[in-house]
Amino acid sequence: MFLISDLCTLLKSYLEPDQVKEVYRAYIFGADAHEGQQRLSGEPYIYHPLAVARILAEMRMDVKSIIAALLHDVIEDTPTAKDHLASEFGEEVAELVDGVSKLTQVKFESKAEAQAENFRKMMLAMVRDIRVILIKLADRLHNMRTLGVMPPAKRRRISKETLEIYVPIANRLGMHNLRLELEELGFKAAYPIRYRILEDAVKNARGNRSEVLEKIRKNIEERLHQEGIDVPVKGREKHLYSIYEKMRSKGLSFAEVFDVYAFRLVVDKPDTCYRVLGIIHSIYKPVPGKFKDYIAIPKANGYQSLHTILFGPYGIPIEVQIRTEDMEKVANVGIAAHWLYKSGGDGHRKDLAQEWLRGLLEMQQHAGNSQEFLENVKIDLFPDEVYVFSPKGDIMTLPRGSTIVDFAYAVHSDLGNSCVAGKIDRRLAPLRTQLHNGQTVEIISAPGAKPNPVWLDFVVSAKARSNIRSFLKRLKRGEAIQLGRRLLEKSLASFSANLDDIPESRINKLLEEFKLDKLDDLLEQISLGNRVALLVARQLTETGVP
Ligand code: MN
Repeated sequence: MFLISDLCTLLKSYLEPDQVKEVYRAYIFGADAHEGQQRLSGEPYIYHPLAVARILAEMRMDVKSIIAALLHDVIEDTPTAKDHLASEFGEEVAELVDGVSKLTQVKFESKAEAQAENFRKMMLAMVRDIRVILIKLADRLHNMRTLGVMPPAKRRRISKETLEIYVPIANRLGMHNLRLELEELGFKAAYPIRYRILEDAVKNARGNRSEVLEKIRKNIEERLHQEGIDVPVKGREKHLYSIYEKMRSKGLSFAEVFDVYAFRLVVDKPDTCYRVLGIIHSIYKPVPGKFKDYIAIPKANGYQSLHTILFGPYGIPIEVQIRTEDMEKVANVGIAAHWLYKSGGDGHRKDLAQEWLRGLLEMQQHAGNSQEFLENVKIDLFPDEVYVFSPKGDIMTLPRGSTIVDFAYAVHSDLGNSCVAGKIDRRLAPLRTQLHNGQTVEIISAPGAKPNPVWLDFVVSAKARSNIRSFLKRLKRGEAIQLGRRLLEKSLASFSANLDDIPESRINKLLEEFKLDKLDDLLEQISLGNRVALLVARQLTETGVP
């Protein structure tokens, strides 16, 4: 059983004593808030947030993340309010917990796998602080580790969701270790039979190859030793899920995927990586076109390493990865390395994270600090779109700034043309209300309702704009004049005036200014959205003009 005292011991290795005290206080606060609640396993609830905090502490996340992890279910599952958290632990922690709660409220109930991509984007777009995602991933990891107590149907649903949503996010953020564990747990629970078959196959195959594997390993180690480089050559087991995925996506047989020997060498500095590569290429011939230099050109998620494939004995391919210890650490925790603290606990970020970030920044031709990097990641993760749900749970992607009217037209142009009101998260809202990520939007329509030219002032999507315009153009002249009159009267009413009371001289003057013949022409223009009713009304009622 992992206790708060264990967490504090772990944290003391990299946080200040004051910060560890603050974490302890957060634990007491969380335990009080969850008092009397239990997990399905029967344990007191607080063990769950404690375990989530531990996962983040093992990644050496900063003190605010650890505190937020201990409190991550407090807003969602207890009467504690965000303001209360802010006054106890500061605005930053309250924001983090609030962000995690908002993600928790969004339920992934898609029938179609195609929705998963949009859902991932929505999750990323919803958070203002990447740490919210890291806490959510740690939360999911602990839930996956303790999935056994759930009924089978729920187990399958949660694990598929993990594979479709959380694994790709962890991958995008370069969090290798966390991703691998989520994959294995998810695969095992979602496809128990396939998992068992592959597990057996690996067991059988492993026996046959261990001798050859050992021979190659020794051979490489000895040659490196002769050249004055002493590093352990580690064999790399392929994980079941990655074997499964390779077989599935590339249509390969088990033998084709499994009969690859994989090794990893972790050395002291980048220089050594290239020397080791040269030596290895002199032992076994490299397969042309398979060498990848991710040190000079890191992957988008910051991963660095040299990869090569060799022709091994009996024609068996050998995959080799060569990297430094620092690269290895970053490869394991990915973006979490940004919050890595120097062991010893003087509170400064580890140089290696800075190095990594700076390297990445230079690659992107940006000079600057790590803050800028995070901004860049955010721009990358926050596309210019909002993601909202239909009442049925379908995800709609709209341009940023879209309103209820844009949503209606995105569903169907008839719905847009006949919409009269909308509900956001089951509450009535004006049609011009801008939508935010994760909201559920419902359109109320009425037969015979018509688009209002005023909508052109606030819609942002091309589809809504062109539909409204073409509808207004199709209006017969008579109808258009009527509509224009209605709109103008409405606007005049806000100046306490009405059309019949406006002197004719005044109307004529305005018509002259607009180069129009008749009042009807002006009314038609208003209904077509070419003139704004409110502006016309103002001009008609302005005092001081004859
Ligand atoms: Mn939780």
